[in-house]
Order: sequence, then structure tokens, then C-alpha cells
Amino acid sequence: LIQLAMPLNYLGMVYREVKQALTNIENMFALLAEQRDVADSPGARDLDPGTGGIVFDQVVFAYEPERPILRGISFEVKPGESVAVVGTTGAGKSTLARLLFRFYDVQSGSIRINGQDLRAVTQSSLRQAIGIVPQDTVLFNDSIGFNIRYGRVDATDAAVQEAARAAQLSHLITEMPKGFDTLVGERGLKLSGGEKQRVAIARTVLKNPPILILDEATSALDTRTERRIQAELEQLAKNRTSLIIAHRLSTIVHADQILVMDHGQIVERGRHDELLAMRGRYAQLWALQQHEQQEALAHEPA
Ligand code: ATP
Repeated sequence: LIQLAMPLNYLGMVYREVKQALTNIENMFALLAEQRDVADSPGARDLDPGTGGIVFDQVVFAYEPERPILRGISFEVKPGESVAVVGTTGAGKSTLARLLFRFYDVQSGSIRINGQDLRAVTQSSLRQAIGIVPQDTVLFNDSIGFNIRYGRVDATDAAVQEAARAAQLSHLITEMPKGFDTLVGERGLKLSGGEKQRVAIARTVLKNPPILILDEATSALDTRTERRIQAELEQLAKNRTSLIIAHRLSTIVHADQILVMDHGQIVERGRHDELLAMRGRYAQLWALQQHEQQEALAHEPA
């Protein structure tokens, strides 16, 4: 028994260490399984995000040299405002988010936050300033409390509970016999797509970053759940500078600016009404999605 207990103890230790390491990787590389191919430049300073104004200035980027993805992208997200990016699949929308998080460096042009080039600041300070609600939230096989606290590992229990409340998770959690200690994942509480997204919202509430990236899920939540989550996301985006990668136009009607992307270029830009009035690409997409949404609603149970 002792022989068995020793390795188990050891494994437990390793597990705790790995867990600790994971929670310390606030850059989320482990979570998003991205390769680390950028490094802090010598003399990099910590970012002063201020109120989080973002500028993309003539950004050119390719993952592979022979295949350009972004072909000179320029736009500005003013502090506290929201810019939404829409466009066909593969147009390069999510790539904008990856570049803002500096998973990769631009080939030419620059990206600046509060006037500071991303290449001149430390990655840890950059990632501290940005919260992401990703398409698919990765959950640890651990308690729901742990999974929420991941947003800020030194958060108090009260803060974790408050974040859960803000993300409309309290109800679900208090129904569980073990509350915040309930395990999630394979052998515990299985969360739906919408609930997982709420965990991401709760994490971001805890992190409280000035900048927010919302990478909208392509996978279908039912329309009603989506509307509720949308309301929570809007709350989260309040007073933050937000970049929204949108797949459904209905969620971005109120964005301060909408960029329509096609093949790595911005082909239209403006507010929802302005874009509709142009009767161009956006207006087409809008008409198509309205139609699809009505169809979907008609087939959903009340
Ligand atoms: P969607 O709406 O389908 O999510 P998107 O507009 O967000 O699409 P991106 O994810 O930005 O598109 O991808 C743009 C292009 O870059 C795609 O053609 C994709 O295949 C390519 N791409 C994305 N990631 C990589 C990568 N790591 N290596 C090589 N090519 C990539």
C-alpha cells in the first residue's frame, strides 16, 4: 500500500504544480494551443493601456509567406468603443484578434494600443490588458470555482461569486450539491456551449481588462440562449474597448463601427444603418441572415 501511496502522492504533487503553472500562464498559450513564436524585444516596457484605444495601421500579415492573409488593414477602436468585424469565412477576422494578442507579429505596418507599438511592450503586460471571450472556452477538469478563478488567480471567494452572478451562472452553481466545488468536465458537471461561454464571461469579469476581444462562436447556440448571452456580453463590453469578431450580424447592430472584410481587406465600413443604406455587401449579408434567423426561430420549440 505504501508503495502505491508514494507514487500517488507524487502524482498529486505534480498535478498541483502543473495546475499552478497553468494558472500562472496568463498569456493563455497553453489554452489556445498556439505556438510561441514572438519574443519580448530587448528593453521592452510594460504596456500602459490607458483607456485602451487600439490602432491597426496598414497591417500586412501572412502565416505562410506565399499566402497573404491581411493586405493592408487600417482601423481605429477609440477608447471605450466597440468595433465589430464581419465577413466571409477565411477573410481574416480571427487573425486580427490573434495579432492584437500578439500571437504573431505583423509583416509590415503596426498595431498600437494607447500609442504603444505591440512589439515594444512586454507580452505579459499586453495580455494582462486584454480579456478574451473565445469561440470555444477550454475548461479544466477541476471545480467550477477553479475554472472561474482562472480569470484572476488571487481573486477572493466573494469576487468569484460576484463574477458568477454577473455571468448568470449562480443559479446553475447553487443547484449543485457541492456548489463552487462541483467538478466540471468528463467526470463532473457537463456544461453546454452557452454555459461554457458564461464561464469565459465570468473569468473576464474577474480579470477586468480595459480591452476586450469577443470571438463569437460559429457553433449554433439556440437563438434564445444566444440572445441572453448577448445581453451579458454587452454588459461586459460596457466601458471597455472592444473588438468583436462576429458571425451573426444581429449581435453587432449597436457597434460603433462595423468592418466588412473580404480576402484580407476591408471592403466596407460604417455603422449598421449606414452600411444598410449602402446596399452593398453588408446589406446582402444582413438580408440573408434575417431570412435564416426567421427560419430557425420558426423551427425552435417555444
Ligand atoms: P471564420 O469566419 O471561418 O472564423 P476568419 O475570417 O476568422 O474565418 P481566419 O481564422 O482569420 O479567418 O483565417 C484567415 C485565413 O488564414 C484562413 O484561410 C485560414 O486558413 C488561414 N489560417 C488561419 N490560421 C492559420 C495558421 N495558423 N497557419 C496557416 N494559415 C492559417
